[in-house]
Amino acid sequence: MSRVVVVGGGFGGAAAAARLAKLGHRVTLVERLGRLGGAVGFVERDGYRWDAGPSSTGLPAVLRDLFRKSGRPLERELELVPVEPIREHRFVDGAVLAMPSGSRSAQLEAVDGALGTGLGRQWVDYVHGHVETWDVLRRGYLERPYSASHADAATRALLRTRTTLHRAVRRRFEDERLRALALLSTVLDGQDPRRVPAWWGVWAYVEQAFGVWTVPGGMGLLGDALSRRLRDRRVEVLLQTTVQDVRIHDGRATGVVTDHGSLDAEVVVCAVDPQSLPGLARGGRRAGAAADPPAVCHLGLRGEVPDLSHEVVLHGDPTLVVRTHGTAPAGAAAWTVLARGGLTEDVVVALARRGIDVTGQVELRVDRSPPDQVQELAGSPYGELWRGRATMDRRLAGPAVQGLHVAGVHAAAGSGLPLVGLAAAVVAQRIGSA
Ligand SMILES: Cc1cc2nc3c(=O)[nH]c(=O)nc-3n(C[C@H](O)[C@H](O)[C@H](O)COP(=O)(O)OP(=O)(O)OC[C@H]3O[C@@H](n4cnc5c(N)ncnc54)[C@H](O)[C@@H]3O)c2cc1C
Repeated sequence: MSRVVVVGGGFGGAAAAARLAKLGHRVTLVERLGRLGGAVGFVERDGYRWDAGPSSTGLPAVLRDLFRKSGRPLERELELVPVEPIREHRFVDGAVLAMPSGSRSAQLEAVDGALGTGLGRQWVDYVHGHVETWDVLRRGYLERPYSASHADAATRALLRTRTTLHRAVRRRFEDERLRALALLSTVLDGQDPRRVPAWWGVWAYVEQAFGVWTVPGGMGLLGDALSRRLRDRRVEVLLQTTVQDVRIHDGRATGVVTDHGSLDAEVVVCAVDPQSLPGLARGGRRAGAAADPPAVCHLGLRGEVPDLSHEVVLHGDPTLVVRTHGTAPAGAAAWTVLARGGLTEDVVVALARRGIDVTGQVELRVDRSPPDQVQELAGSPYGELWRGRATMDRRLAGPAVQGLHVAGVHAAAGSGLPLVGLAAAVVAQRIGSA
């Protein structure tokens, strides 16, 4: 049994802690806020409740695996329901596409109907081209510790590609709307498609094949479920405690220093931005900047509001995402608007200009700028800003300090619960059973 300290109680840290405790380690999780979950949680005001961060997740197997492998199955803790359509897209030219999940033929028909005959085939062929990519990524990188000496040629070639997503998509499509669809998840991640590898496009396949899922009442409920799981697994949780640095002796992690004293450990899992801890930032291989979160505006709306899907994307600059699932008092609605790109006017005005006019109905609003969110979480929940292959090379090399593991979004292959959850599972595999 090792004494493990996990730094950061966001989804990444909590998932790693639950798995490691189940593997028999003595685990202490240190979180600077007074609650667990990080970006996963709620904003509550005057009877309204909005998801502060995630409102849905792809690849539900990741959550199911986490709960099953750390104790009881997910179904005993949370209800996970499919979102259908995955989202509605509104394009600059006025075309509207409700994108279904589950089958190629359903997407083909929907894209043909909304964007024009023939484009459905182009789209599903592009998505289908990622089937093998997903298989290689999953087996060689996402689901188990990567090792250059054990990785097969296909995995090595994929991870070291110089082809960017931007290039791959421009070559593939002439239609600007198909390009926007293929780049959407990267743009919403706050990344530049010119700086991420072509395999980031795999998300279109993952959504088509495995759908998008949510929790009735809000994804924020996942934070409570994680807290319960950590309690059941007897993880010691230190809230309102900030890790100031990782202690390193002779190239080995020996514990952490917090604002309430030191904690000894044989293994330290860093589930926060490593650059925020001086000992790790000093360790060379500077990661660079973080990816910004979107500007977020939570709206409490009175009266009749347009009846929208769970999520509506208004393509263009800025790209606006309307999430309509929040909990509101009777006769009201709770929406969240996320904005990416050049927002030069008030977000509610921008929304009205793009055809969703709720200007007269705003009873309450809570604005959270990108810097507000980074300050609240002491780091970006969108992880590192990718800079082409250098980012991948550094990740594949891993941390140079023995007994130190990096989890959370800064170690994951992108932001979001599925990739962060997979990274936590890989860290638990690396550390192994007690
Ligand atoms: C507005 C928004 C919408 C999103 N929508 C979705 C979505 O729909 N679907 C999806 O899958 N993903 C979504 N995401 C992304 C997803 O929420 C994140 O990628 C993921 O939750 C990151 O988890 P994490 O644990 O790595 O980081 P975080 O959630 O940032 O957690 C890090 C934790 O570490 C703590 N911490 C930091 N420094 C220290 C320290 N020195 N000592 C102790 N504790 C420390 C912080 O307080 C925080 O609790 C969204 C994010 C945002 C912000």
